[in-house]
Amino acid sequence: MFGTLSDRLSGILSGLTRRGSLTEEDVNAALREVRRALLEADVALEVVRSFTDKVRERAVGAEVLKSVTPGQQVIKIVNDVLIETLGGEGESINLDAVPPVPVLMVGLQGSGKTTSTAKIAKRLTDRNRKKVLMASLDTRRPAAMEQLAVLGQQVGVQTLPIVAGQSAVQIARRAIEAGRLGGFDVVMLDTAGRVTLDDTLMEEVAQVKAATNPHEVLLVADALTGQDAVNTARAFDARVGLTGIVLTRMDGDSRGGAALSMRAVTGKPIKLVGIGEKVDELDDFHPSRVANRILG
Ligand code: GDP
Repeated sequence: MFGTLSDRLSGILSGLTRRGSLTEEDVNAALREVRRALLEADVALEVVRSFTDKVRERAVGAEVLKSVTPGQQVIKIVNDVLIETLGGEGESINLDAVPPVPVLMVGLQGSGKTTSTAKIAKRLTDRNRKKVLMASLDTRRPAAMEQLAVLGQQVGVQTLPIVAGQSAVQIARRAIEAGRLGGFDVVMLDTAGRVTLDDTLMEEVAQVKAATNPHEVLLVADALTGQDAVNTARAFDARVGLTGIVLTRMDGDSRGGAALSMRAVTGKPIKLVGIGEKVDELDDFHPSRVANRILG
């Protein structure tokens, strides 16, 4: 994860610690390289700018440069700003509501939405002792409904029985009702994905949201698509409103552009990350741990 970016940044920053003293120009030169490394990692330009501006502001003050270990201090500043950019404290899924708590999963087809729905359901069942019901709202792709049912069996989580001919909103309402009658804590609604961000998709998601009043609306986005993932999040947030992001395929992401830009651009926290195809390959997103990994 983030291997390429991590190598670049570590190289640039270790250059700073090799010197006994630093001038403002040394810091500026390093920041120009950091800027290039972040842009090559596909971090959004606005995020790169604000990142380097913040580091420069804090680092070129007399105290830092005149200290005994100026290089170490600059690295500490980079680390702090990185954590802030990634979202500070880190947030997890919030289920603090009257059960059954509806959780709406949205995103483009192929982003890992159905897999992530099952991964989250499994985690809530195993770790949080929640009784979870999953429902697929993908009325156009029977295979997607089947996929969720198979995953449900695999992870030991119930799925709503499939009834042909119902609309997404009707299935969602039926799921909430079944959740209530069956004493479920959480009802996870896996909406239909589409290849592109078209209006029909957005309208359907908006209607399901209006009908179910979900406590969490999680966008599943593929980290490997870089800025496209961020643009998708922005579009979904503008149209339906998101509470958080699940960033998948972090296991294959050596660049880190989506992870680094997501919070700063959308204002929404990455709550979970997918780190593999298996049903337990899901992790919390801890900005400080991610920053540590990036800076090596
Ligand atoms: P959906 O169309 O958005 O529902 O996507 P799926 O859940 O069907 O996932 C598409 C493919 O991506 C499947 O082969 C998943 O196993 C795979 N996938 C999902 N999440 C991850 C992840 O975090 N890492 C990796 N390597 N593969 C993933």
